[in-house]
Amino acid sequence: MTTPSVAELGTPEPDTAASRTLFARAAAAIPGGVNSPVRAFTSVGGTPRFMVSARGPWLTDADGHRYVDLICSWGPMILGHAHPAVVEAVRAAAGSGLSFGAPTPAEVELAEEIIGRVAPVEQVRLVNSGTEATMSAVRLARGITGRKAVVKFAGCYHGHVDALLAQAGSGVATLGLPTSPGVTGAQAADTVVLPYNDLDAVRAVFAERGGEIACVITEAAAGNMGAVAPLPGFNAGLKELCSAHGALLIMDEVMTGFRVSGSGWYGRDGVAGDLYTFGKVMSGGLPAAAFGGPTASMSHLAPAGPVYQAGTLSGNPVAVAAGLATLRNADEAVYATLDANADRLARLLGDALSVQGVPHRVQRAGNLLSVFFTDDDVHDYAGAQAAQTWRFPPFFHALLDRGVYPPPSAFEAWFVSTALDDDAWQAIDDALPQAAKAAATALSPTDAAQ
Ligand SMILES: *Cc1c(COP(=O)(O)O)cnc(C)c1O
Repeated sequence: MTTPSVAELGTPEPDTAASRTLFARAAAAIPGGVNSPVRAFTSVGGTPRFMVSARGPWLTDADGHRYVDLICSWGPMILGHAHPAVVEAVRAAAGSGLSFGAPTPAEVELAEEIIGRVAPVEQVRLVNSGTEATMSAVRLARGITGRKAVVKFAGCYHGHVDALLAQAGSGVATLGLPTSPGVTGAQAADTVVLPYNDLDAVRAVFAERGGEIACVITEAAAGNMGAVAPLPGFNAGLKELCSAHGALLIMDEVMTGFRVSGSGWYGRDGVAGDLYTFGKVMSGGLPAAAFGGPTASMSHLAPAGPVYQAGTLSGNPVAVAAGLATLRNADEAVYATLDANADRLARLLGDALSVQGVPHRVQRAGNLLSVFFTDDDVHDYAGAQAAQTWRFPPFFHALLDRGVYPPPSAFEAWFVSTALDDDAWQAIDDALPQAAKAAATALSPTDAAQ
């Protein structure tokens, strides 16, 4: 085992009895003990912490330990946990009925809020998860173009849509899976996977199969293989190629949307996609997501048009209330604070790792960040995989044991909130030297074998 014991690192091992008991019960009742794979700590080892409450920048687990939250529910909680305005909006909505299966005024307001922020989006349809949003956007693109093929990029994650799981990021990358059993050959055959940030590869596939390609789907800035921003001109090049060949560009902003600026990555590079997908921040932590685009495209959807898409709980009033309250509180000051907090965290991480002489890149995509243990800039999935990922588990556990909760995977972005306060920064400051030391002294797989 490459992870140094907590005793070696000079802190008492935190008592995780309650989480261990819960994980054993969970493993009997739920596959792998979790409802989403990365939560199981498979790639870092150890016991997943079962959380019982959260407030501001802190998570509290079943054993009563507190952690500075650097995952923020994988993005949504930009304002921190249990933000009073969001909680009040949810309470008020819940008190007025949980679900109607009929249109509501608030869902119109949320749609208008999104449209008001992202200029290329004139209409949105609300759904329940980012997966549903990308699945529906791909169906719409195929419906509009009458073509089958989808181009995606290795290391990008677009939810667990069958056609989009090939060489996906996030949990698929964390678990080292090429793709998934249960995805049929036909679905996979219609998916072309290319290296991220490689316009020549996109050009080549359009030259060969341009007439078959319904859409190119890309993360507006990749965050699911770690933070890997598009190189200058990449998104604009995709747009140009798609337009030239009659294919649609789907900008997946489920992670970046309403986090990296008030209008997402679009607000940073100004490249307009043909269709957009949103999730995470726009739901304030409840299950809601959306896809959108120009009216001319969105009007192909039922009941306005023939492309079918529906949902019993879509536009759920409680989820809509959480999303609307979150977005209405996410003003320019919030985005400035998120950026400043990401700058500060990146600096602390870089300094601590430099002191210990650990090869590293703290990469940024706006205020998304992640740590790659390598001396080379990472521009694609091959680069992310080539990093010394074996340094990550001891680094992760040294932080966790000291009350800092980063993502339990070398292939996930870290997320800041505006709620990080002096106490939280102090905890991060206190934890980082030992974590950097753990990364420095980690054994490589070759060392470990000797
Ligand atoms: C999280 C994510 C999804 C999937 O969203 P879910 O709500 O987990 O289904 C899709 N695309 C991107 C870029 C994501 O980060």
